[in-house]
Amino acid sequence: MKSGMRYIFISVLIFSACSIPIHKEFEVLELNFPDHLQVVRRADWGWKPLAGILPQHEINKITIHHGGVDYPPDKDPVEHVRKLQDWSRKEKKWIDIPYHFMIDPDGVIYEARPINYPGATNTDYDPAGHALICLMGNFENATVNQSQMKTIIELTVYLVERFNVPLYDIKGHKDYTETLCPGKNLYQYLENGTIQARVQERLPK
Ligand SMILES: [Zn+2]
Repeated sequence: MKSGMRYIFISVLIFSACSIPIHKEFEVLELNFPDHLQVVRRADWGWKPLAGILPQHEINKITIHHGGVDYPPDKDPVEHVRKLQDWSRKEKKWIDIPYHFMIDPDGVIYEARPINYPGATNTDYDPAGHALICLMGNFENATVNQSQMKTIIELTVYLVERFNVPLYDIKGHKDYTETLCPGKNLYQYLENGTIQARVQERLPK
């Protein structure tokens, strides 16, 4: 019994080591978020190291997405980002979550893929140069609440200043390719310029 248990334990270790390569040779550009942003850092939600490496990029755009799946009120966001990371690595063979930031229904930001690496996509645009923000939920159905909107604005203000992103390059996924993302109820605020205008108001004159 004892030796049998040991065999299973070792097999699991070998299997997991083979299925998800761990690359230690990657760099993470750590961001110094302002205090008013509520950010759950990678170390605090159980982020796993990158499962591969990509050429690094320079941010010159900010692109907003939604999860595209309804988000029930009792869903745990930490569990959600952990599962999304596992799915991204195992099913999609991506190095990490496709987005750099995930925002939950309370407007809390979860740090995801390190911003110095381009994101990933199921569609046909090139995400190199884009800082990718994803709102958890499906905004074809759900509406954007005040906490989420406040966080989108404040995170975008921070990224615009940090990376010198022009306001005209704050867009939605569907501005680049055929998709419903980020959902009509979120996209309307990009299309009518609300988000860009509120970001501009917050920038130093
Ligand atoms: Zn998208």
